[in-house]
Amino acid sequence: MSSRLDLFIDRMVSQRACLDFAISETAAMSGPVFELGLGNGRTYHHMRRYVENRDIFVFERAVASHPDSTPPEDRVILGDVRETLPQSLERFGPVASLVHADLGGHNRQKNDIFARFVSPLIEPLMAPGGLMVSSDRMYFDTLTEVALPEGAVEERCFIYRR
Ligand code: SAM
Repeated sequence: MSSRLDLFIDRMVSQRACLDFAISETAAMSGPVFELGLGNGRTYHHMRRYVENRDIFVFERAVASHPDSTPPEDRVILGDVRETLPQSLERFGPVASLVHADLGGHNRQKNDIFARFVSPLIEPLMAPGGLMVSSDRMYFDTLTEVALPEGAVEERCFIYRR
């Protein structure tokens, strides 16, 4: 059985591999990138470093990130995603080229219940051809699961395409 350290490392390695793959696959798209869950801001910092020519909007209920990884105020969509995702559909429409969700905590069962709840809120925001990267399995009707890139560990990260 994997240790918690093993699982953590696998998650980090997978997040980077999946984000790099998704950033590259969607590089020709112009729609915005949505980061769901800022946390410390590591994955936001990574995307800001490697995403070119696309706006990055961050969804977070309480910003508490590293100062180097704090988005400008006009790029933060503050509040609970259960409310801000439907509001963002009205604001943006189905335009997201890339959505990354890392909203979960330590309880896998709670994470799964939450993933089931937010999947239908994320789905209509995706542009055709857009990719969704998630730390949890998602439950989409119209998005299809994509094979993980080299370096990512099964079950530690998931990728879906609209
Ligand atoms: N990927 C981040 C990083 O690399 O630093 C870590 C994200 S952390 C695991 C999860 C974040 O999601 C937390 O900051 C938490 O406040 C946020 N979050 C969880 N549930 C949320 C919700 N319902 N609405 C908005 N933000 C939420």
